[in-house]
Amino acid sequence: MGKITIAVDGYSSTGKSTIAKRLAAALGYIYVDTGAMYRAVTLFALNNGFIGTQDDILGLVKQLPKIKLKFVPNKETGRSEMYLNGKNVEEEIRTMKVSRQVSKVAAIGEVRTKLVEMQQQMGKDKGIVMDGRDIGTVVFPDAELKLFMTASPEIRATRRYKELLDKGEKVTFEEVLKNVQERDRIDSTRSISPLKKAKDAIEFDNSDMGLEEQFERIHEFAKRVIGKGR
Ligand code: C5P
Repeated sequence: MGKITIAVDGYSSTGKSTIAKRLAAALGYIYVDTGAMYRAVTLFALNNGFIGTQDDILGLVKQLPKIKLKFVPNKETGRSEMYLNGKNVEEEIRTMKVSRQVSKVAAIGEVRTKLVEMQQQMGKDKGIVMDGRDIGTVVFPDAELKLFMTASPEIRATRRYKELLDKGEKVTFEEVLKNVQERDRIDSTRSISPLKKAKDAIEFDNSDMGLEEQFERIHEFAKRVIGKGR
């Protein structure tokens, strides 16, 4: 059966990665979380003093060739984890420290060019489910199936807040909600590759629906699209 490319875009914490990961596993496709790549570049920028109280965007851009990113499957869980210059940073890139700065770094054109090239390379043989903000619009505008996920900011912040608490982070719900809304704002208004629904993307709002139920629907839909291309 011919393999297709599946693009999953949408706002922060809409359950994109949960759906995309499960879809990839069910179809035997590769899963790529592009948010992890922007987060890893942000961690590099934080660790090397390029962003924070004062930003040195030019300095960061000059260092881009030195940033090596790799997804490596965890031997026990099978899940792919992000490595930055040989170090496993999967946990650290999910912290609020990184979330607070990531949208600023993701708005830098040179950062996007580098990461988009890597993403296109990863998906060149199809059989991939990629989630992010610009996958259906910029990375794979010809993807056979494009999904656009939404949910109310409060629902999204509640999910994210629970995740962070489970990981032991000391955050307030208000702080998480503010971060979700701020990232939505920066991601949708930036001049390069802003977050927007591709014309041919199908929108899924999961404010009132469990991710499990939504996954079943999307999975059925994906199988139909793949079947049509045979
Ligand atoms: O998906 P996640 O919430 O982990 O993404 C973190 C941030 O990375 C987003 O808020 C956005 O600023 C940026 N991003 C992006 N383009 C992508 C994926 C993520 O700009 N394709």
